[in-house]
Amino acid sequence: TISETGGVGTRILVFVRLRPMAKREKEAGSRCCVRIHNKRDVYLTEFATENDYLRLKRLRGRHFTFDASFPDSTTQQEVYTTTTAELVEGVLQGRNGSVFCYGATGAGKTYTMLGTVNHPGVMVLAIKDLFFKIRQRSCDGNHVVHLSYLEVYNETVRDLLSPGRPLVLREDKQGIMASGLTQYRAYSTDEVMALLQQGNLNRTTEPTRANETSSRSHAILQVVAEYKVREGGNLLSRVGKLSLIDLAGSERALATDQRTVRSLEGANINRSLLALSSCINALVEGKKHIPYRNSKLTQLLKDSLGGACNTVMIANISPSNLSFGETQNTLHWADRAKEI
Ligand code: ADP
Ligand code: MG
Repeated sequence: TISETGGVGTRILVFVRLRPMAKREKEAGSRCCVRIHNKRDVYLTEFATENDYLRLKRLRGRHFTFDASFPDSTTQQEVYTTTTAELVEGVLQGRNGSVFCYGATGAGKTYTMLGTVNHPGVMVLAIKDLFFKIRQRSCDGNHVVHLSYLEVYNETVRDLLSPGRPLVLREDKQGIMASGLTQYRAYSTDEVMALLQQGNLNRTTEPTRANETSSRSHAILQVVAEYKVREGGNLLSRVGKLSLIDLAGSERALATDQRTVRSLEGANINRSLLALSSCINALVEGKKHIPYRNSKLTQLLKDSLGGACNTVMIANISPSNLSFGETQNTLHWADRAKEI
């Protein structure tokens, strides 16, 4: 049974996605340090060669198993189908769900979530699937799909669809909401990719790393779907919300000349990621008190984490031995998330 606060019954599915070696990594003489086998097992070593995985199996702390692990050849559609399709099904039945991408900067979080025009990611594929299914199931032909896309950066919340001043979080009977947040009504999938790409450009960029998207901003897409079904002669309204979250980079704050600013921001990123871990821990252990209030990220996700909600984690990793430490951290974190 599922209690009011979530707790017992809350299940988190944990996935790992390995991205292909990047050109600049090859040029730097990188070697591959990750192998994925049977779509589940991940082997990590500093000097893996093609046939190392059998030997590695015996090395403790270097072998991980997840609900599924995606090798670098995995398509966006396959990632969507395995990780998120069931959550979309849940949303259509009125159950909220959330999908998180976790990992170091450059590991493939934004590619997995947003993707490109030719290879759209989980956000776009989820909306596409949602439109397709909702049209089939709506008993009166009507349905409403609203999108909001926001950023948490340095514990400040901003509207990515309508950039401007920071948004204030308010709590009312319905829960916590960012007041003034754009609720964009979407009518088709076609418009969504451009909308989200534009939104992504509005994410806060690093002043010290020109032309790079921010590694310290969390981007949250919330999709609310509403339609009517007929049950025993009655018309029932079904409302569900799907939250898709491109988390800030999980690596430690970079050492730069602006150390004071950076360490403050770094601390806040840690606060949001830490708060998220604490909430997930508390939920799965069935605790009464879930510490949602500890960060803006967890406040915003209060109604999408726990209770009867479905939660999915996708840990993104690079194959390069140059990122060995970050990959190891990501896999350990994902491993813990899986166990709880
Ligand atoms: P992050 O958002 O975690 O910082 P990105 O998603 O921006 O990382 O990925 C870094 C780079 O690697 C980008 O150029 C992206 O297009 C590329 N990339 C990431 N994952 C894949 C993948 N599965 N297939 C092809 N290219 C990828
Ligand atoms: Mg990114």
